[in-house]
Parts: sequence; C-alpha cells; structure tokens
Amino acid sequence: MNIDLLIKNGLALEYDKEPTINSIAILNGKILDIGKDLEQKYKASQIIDAADKIVMPGFVNTHSHVAMSYFKGLADDLPLQEWLSKHIWPVEAKFLSAEFVEDAALYGCAEMIKNGITTFSDMYFFGDQTAKSAEKVGIRAVLGEGVLDYPVANYQNADEIFAYIKKMHHKYLKSELIDFAVAPHAIYTCGKENLIKAKNLAQELGILLHIHLSETKKEVADCINKTGMRPVEYLDSLGFFEGNVVVAHAIWLNENEQNILAKNNTSVSINTSSNLKLASGFNSFRSYIEHGINLSLGTDGVASNNNLSMLQEISLTAKLQKALNDDPTFLPDKDMIKIATIGGAKALHKSNQIGSFEIGKKADIILIDVNNIETQPMYDPYSQLVYSLSSEQIKDVIINGKIVMKNRQLINIDAKELIEKAKYYQKKIIKFNSMK
Ligand SMILES: [Zn+2]
Repeated sequence: MNIDLLIKNGLALEYDKEPTINSIAILNGKILDIGKDLEQKYKASQIIDAADKIVMPGFVNTHSHVAMSYFKGLADDLPLQEWLSKHIWPVEAKFLSAEFVEDAALYGCAEMIKNGITTFSDMYFFGDQTAKSAEKVGIRAVLGEGVLDYPVANYQNADEIFAYIKKMHHKYLKSELIDFAVAPHAIYTCGKENLIKAKNLAQELGILLHIHLSETKKEVADCINKTGMRPVEYLDSLGFFEGNVVVAHAIWLNENEQNILAKNNTSVSINTSSNLKLASGFNSFRSYIEHGINLSLGTDGVASNNNLSMLQEISLTAKLQKALNDDPTFLPDKDMIKIATIGGAKALHKSNQIGSFEIGKKADIILIDVNNIETQPMYDPYSQLVYSLSSEQIKDVIINGKIVMKNRQLINIDAKELIEKAKYYQKKIIKFNSMK
C-alpha cells in the first residue's frame, strides 16, 4: 500500500502508553498506522528517520494574538492597563490594517512552528488575513475575531464584527486548517448586549467562544462593583457558558466560579508567563483540577510573554504550581504534557481529531532531537520535555500530514524575508513612537 509519509524508529509518545520505539504511517493527513516494521508494510513517498528523536503530538496553544508578533519587546515592565492603553493600543490604532496583520501573522505563525505548536487558538482582528497566513505556513488555527463595544480595526461596531465572523465561518468551512471563533475581548470591553450576541452567534454557527477572563484582581473588583457578581457568575447569568467556551487566564476564580466552569464543560487556558510578567498574579490550579475543569496552555501574545515557547510555558507552569502548592508531586511531567497537547485539543473541542497519537487522528506531529549534551542521558522523555528541553531541539514539524519544518528550516516560507519585513515594520513603529 502506498502512503504519503513514514516516520521511522522514533521514540513515540502514544497516549497513555509507555514510550516505545515505533514507526508512524501517514496517509491523507491522518495517522494510518503505528507499529514496528512499517517499512515492509507500506511504500512511502517520503521517509523521515527519527532515530534519537522523540516523536509526539504537536503542542496546542489555546491563547494567542499571533498578529502582535511585531510588538515583541515594544513595551515591557509595565502594569497591564498602562501597557495596553499607553503602548499597545496606540500602535495598533496607527498600524492595524489588513496588510499589516497578514505580514505580522505570517511571522507569528512561523514562530509558532519553530516552537512545536501545531494548532493555535487566536484572538485578534482581520481573521481573513491571519487565515491566509496560517494556511501559507501550514499551521492549524482557530481564529477568534475580537469583539469590542467601540470601533476597532476596520469595524465601526460589534454588529459588523458579527457579520464578518459569519462570512468567514462560511468562507473557511471546507478548510483543512482553519476554523473561526467568536472572541469577545473581555467583560470590561464588551457590554452585556454584545456578550449575549457573541454567545448566540457562536451557538448558531456551532463554533468556539474565546474570552479573557479574571486576569487581574482589578477586573474582579470592578465586576463586583458594577454587577454585584464575580466575572464567571456574571457571564453565567448571561447564559454565556451554554456553548463551547475557552476562558484565558482565569486566575481569580472562587469555589462557586470553578463549579460553574466545571458544570458547563468550560476550559481554561493557563498563561503563566504572561501573568507573571504583567504581575497579574498566580493561583494554584489544584482545586480547578479537583473540580474537573479541563486545563490547557496558552502563550498569550509575544507582546506580553515575550516568546512562543510552549516548552518554557510547560516548565514554568509545572514549577510554579509545585511551589504554590508546597508539593513537588503536584502536576507531574506526564500530566503537564497532557495539558499542553490533549488538554488544548479538548479546550478547542477537537480532541477527536488532534492532541494525541492515535490511529485515525490528524497527523500533527513534532520530532525532537535528544542526541545532545543538554539532553542526555535520557531516562524519561516526559522529564526531558518538561525540565530540560528547549524549542531549539524541536527539529521537524508535521501538520495535517505535511512537513512544514525540516531540521529547523521552514518549508513553505522564506525565513530571511520574514526577518527583513519585521525589521522594516520595527523602523516604522520606532518612528511613530518618537513622534508621539
Ligand atoms: Zn490575551
């Protein structure tokens, strides 16, 4: 039988199985077979020798702003509100255009792949352009079009955004890589009316709702002052959690709020780096897990992280959670990898397609070289992934059965061109800031 791709002799991390040297046969974008001696069984158009490599499902990044890639390092060491209102929003007001987003998203998608991310869930504007860039790079994406009460990007009001989402949903309905989502920015930028409209639209189209929630203590205090309820309770009173929802950050949830999310099968996207850097705070997620809330990991945008390393996010989250719980046994390495892969897939309601190695699932696979000084000896690949490896060791990335990075070289785009363009925009942004 002919197949498209054979990944042979890698240390395969199959879901809930012991790591085993195995080969993987890929046909039509999906995993056809996993086992030994597949070379005899199939005739492959392409073969990757994965000896000395970990072969695992790609990371699922559940919260990002991919087109903010040119704002990396633009403003640091500031509180969230000041960072947004004095730095990010002014440059966005000046530069946001379809062309800018397409370029910046292309860069961001490339950076995601270099970090082993095979699916990301985004929140931004000009989703059509982001979709084009994601397809060009070859990455899977759930693109949440941002919803705010006031004019933003190319929209005069939220109704225009809702109409756009509907249009995009239909435009990309048959896309192998792209889904659209409704992404009300936050409860402090979106009023009751638009939150309800957002929820209704997501339910009507059967797509995801993606929102920033309970990111800072101020947000919680303001919400209580305004509504008499905490953020999750407030959204619940609007019926917001009836659909498929991912809440990003969700740091400050009390018992009742955790019960609400668990009852509604709402997932949380943990963004540890961003929360630490903006000093939004941190909380133990132990009781979230005990309540049965599905956890996933997000990098947030590079403007607030400032990188897209899922391995760093995994490592940082594991260590922080252990320290917070005064318990080194909390969130062991295997559990952390699940959060970053199948947890993300569940959050995006795609766990029947991605997030683990199983026959019939999409072939979204990363190969990690462990034959290095930094990564030997290797007693346990999960331990290496959480505590030792860096993105530099992620060598090959396969998405939807296609190789999109080979030996750290991007296949579908010219990295040099991307870098030149980033420098070009950097100059323009510096000039704008100097005239402010
Ligand atoms: Zn965010």
